[in-house]
Amino acid sequence: MKVIDIINSAEKTQFSFELLPPLKGSNGDKLYETVDALLEFNPRYINITTHRDEFDFRTRPDGLIEKHIVRKRPGTVAIAASLQYKYGIPVVPHILCGGFTRSETEHVLIDLNFLGIENVLALRGDGLKTEPVFTPAPDGNRNANELVDQIVGLRSGKYLDPDLKNTAPLDFCIGVAGYPEKHFEAPNIDLDMLNLKQKVDAGADYIVTQMFFDNQKYFDFVDKCRAMGITVPIIPGIKPIALKNQLTVLPKLFSIDLPQEFAKELAAAKDNIAAKQVGTEWAIHQAKELVKRGVPSLHVYTYGLTDNVKEIMKAVF
Ligand SMILES: Cc1cc2nc3c(=O)[nH]c(=O)nc-3n(C[C@H](O)[C@H](O)[C@H](O)COP(=O)(O)OP(=O)(O)OC[C@H]3O[C@@H](n4cnc5c(N)ncnc54)[C@H](O)[C@@H]3O)c2cc1C
Repeated sequence: MKVIDIINSAEKTQFSFELLPPLKGSNGDKLYETVDALLEFNPRYINITTHRDEFDFRTRPDGLIEKHIVRKRPGTVAIAASLQYKYGIPVVPHILCGGFTRSETEHVLIDLNFLGIENVLALRGDGLKTEPVFTPAPDGNRNANELVDQIVGLRSGKYLDPDLKNTAPLDFCIGVAGYPEKHFEAPNIDLDMLNLKQKVDAGADYIVTQMFFDNQKYFDFVDKCRAMGITVPIIPGIKPIALKNQLTVLPKLFSIDLPQEFAKELAAAKDNIAAKQVGTEWAIHQAKELVKRGVPSLHVYTYGLTDNVKEIMKAVF
């Protein structure tokens, strides 16, 4: 089932969550345990992140430095398929521009179609740590709107090879990312939102937001989207803080603010256990208000944790 149909046919706020593939070398047990633990809350779909190749430099025994390709979390497509078949819950694998040629993207989409997966989240991805600015792969998509264009083209059987004889349409429901507090590279929120509109105009079915900790920022973002003619559903992404150091790590990683009151409480937490409780209570307070305002779905960035997510869901639904 397509996410857009799930949302449009729902009479109340739904629950969905995001998972990361396990680190290379680990098995999938933890992932299944996470899903098992959250099944009682009837998740309507599960997102699976994608992690591109990165590079590091290692010293060889002869002292020379060697460049290594590292993909820490491979397996998105296989995990997505495995979860969808095991649980019968639709999955939303993330598709990136960065690190992938348009041809590789087409092949992933063909694989997903064969696997019965109907949903994707189309993202640009971040630049490599070694790059001053994001650089697409040669013949890769440059921004998410180009990726959306490519995926939408396949709805009418537009493959990259114009001479292809068989052009069966591939019909994916497409989500894109939105940033209530602005994407970190955008010079201002208005330009960022024009770029967001471009993704929606290209054919995205819905928007899912970056995490935020101040609901007013989400409400203002939705108002701005509506004022500029973006009519698709806008799903809030919430992240229950679970570690004390996330007080400083998350703002840096995601270019977001923590409200002063929340930041103070976290700073006063004596250890990670206390910080997790503060984070859970804040997420409950956020989620209750979002549900009251009738958001389409509460999308939770679980980072593989479930005890706090369960506490939130029990309090909210
Ligand atoms: C819900 C969610 C899930 C995510 N999942 C992953 C994941 O699985 N893997 C991963 O690596 N990253 C993930 N990310 C992070 C995301 O890849 C980064 O935030 C990335 O830097 C931007 O991706 P985007 O799709 O928003 O890019 P874009 O929409 O392309 O925007 C990137 C920047 O370029 C600007 N821009 C957009 N279009 C144009 C244009 N046509 N011309 C000029 N400028 C333009 C925008 O204003 C913005 O500043 C996720 C983010 C979110 C919010």
